[in-house]
Amino acid sequence: MNLSDKLKKKVFRQIGETADRLGRPVYVVGGYVRDIFLNRTSADIDFVTVGSGIELAREVAKDLPGKNRLSVFATYGTAQIRHRDLELEFVGARKESYRRDSRNPIVENGTLDDDQRRRDFTINAMAISLNADTFGEVVDPFGGLEDLDRKIIRTPLDPDITFSDDPLRMMRAIRFATQLEFDILPETFEAIRRNASRIEIITKERINDELGKIMRARRPSIGLDLLEKAGLMELIFPEIHALKGVETKEGRGHKDNFYHTLQVVDNVAARSDNEWLRWAALLHDVGKPVTKEWEPGTGWTFRNHNFIGEKMIPPLFRKMKLPMNEKMKYVAKLVGLHMRPQQVGEEKVSDSGVRRLLTDAGEDIEDLMILAESDLTSKNPVKVRTALEGFAHLRERMADLKDADAYRNWKNPIRGDEVMERLGIPPCPRLGQLLQQVKDAILDGHVANDHDAAWAYLETLVTPEDRGSAGGTSTSKSSAPDSAC
Ligand code: ATP
Ligand code: MG
Repeated sequence: MNLSDKLKKKVFRQIGETADRLGRPVYVVGGYVRDIFLNRTSADIDFVTVGSGIELAREVAKDLPGKNRLSVFATYGTAQIRHRDLELEFVGARKESYRRDSRNPIVENGTLDDDQRRRDFTINAMAISLNADTFGEVVDPFGGLEDLDRKIIRTPLDPDITFSDDPLRMMRAIRFATQLEFDILPETFEAIRRNASRIEIITKERINDELGKIMRARRPSIGLDLLEKAGLMELIFPEIHALKGVETKEGRGHKDNFYHTLQVVDNVAARSDNEWLRWAALLHDVGKPVTKEWEPGTGWTFRNHNFIGEKMIPPLFRKMKLPMNEKMKYVAKLVGLHMRPQQVGEEKVSDSGVRRLLTDAGEDIEDLMILAESDLTSKNPVKVRTALEGFAHLRERMADLKDADAYRNWKNPIRGDEVMERLGIPPCPRLGQLLQQVKDAILDGHVANDHDAAWAYLETLVTPEDRGSAGGTSTSKSSAPDSAC
């Protein structure tokens, strides 16, 4: 098969010419070749030559027109050229052998065939020649083309060896199956199951890279389900694994929260590309396994699973080395609030309930609505209709609320510092209570949403004991909370 018509970029001919001048073979290899057949475009192109990749790259950087930035990674034997918007990566063909305790192989120089054998999947192991006399010829020793046609992920060699050598490939197999919507060949998948425990030698950062790619795919559930079935989820994300299963008592079961979660993630993914909203969907019920109880007369309950789930997010993100920044806070907040739109919508509450929801969700109200609507996976038509009506009602109410924007960005007009300074109230739980009462009164519409009205109301709440507990003196910001309370 010849693919010269697919190699229209000038660099391919130019790199072939440089290699010819040096008397060297050169090939495009790996993901770029796969993506030609899948009609996907990529700016990262990998080239392999027999001999030194660095030497070839130096010559190519000189020959290519324009300014080309060359970076050499001597320890890896690779070199990269930035040419226009392309990243051209050069490597010498290599042969790899592995030790059991590391995914870093012992590397020797090898032939093109050796190099293709060390690649993870048949669809990633194809090469196309760039030398003038064979330009465009496909070298496909493991039937990668056929597997692309059949939409199959398969390792070129014995899958047990492939996965045991570099267990990251198990994550990659599942990630490609998700991104490309391909099947993993049963023998290959069985080998992943057998080698799942080897994932322990892979760093969390690399695992997260693959998880992120799964979460950004069109249907993340494909990968999440495969991770679970392979026995990997239990090892890399036990809190999600724990959602699986149904317990039955007195003939009553609860829904399988794992499959429910997968559906919610896909529902969100169909409506939003926001990766962290998708993570919030994945984690929205993470508090359920620990809050599950059987209550005679009521059945299964998961009381406060949203709040418990919210509290679980920071330690979970820390443990998994996920970002400990505003993304984490956003996920925690949405997990905590995920049931509110349905409750508020169905209760047909007064304006104050709607204002409260807007205040708590802030800028993320639309994301929260998407999450809550996506959470509706019940097969009971009555439940679904009631909930849908509730959401529609809530959306109308939010649109009607004249001052909705003021509540979306709402901040208590009274600051704690001011209360401490002017009224001599120490920074104790009582201070929080007072501020909460002011908030309630404003959101319930009993007190105007401005500083003076709020202050006047606050003064009616403060008792002599409140002031007395500070010893009658004004408390400054620097006072130690413990000694003052
Ligand atoms: P994408 O860029 O979409 O992640 P890709 O297939 O290009 O997909 P890269 O990580 O860029 O993946 O790797 C380029 C090529 O290097 C792959 O196509 C594959 O041939 C090879 N490769 C990458 N990682 C491994 C690995 N862990 N084991 C074996 N071969 C690998
Ligand atoms: Mg790539």
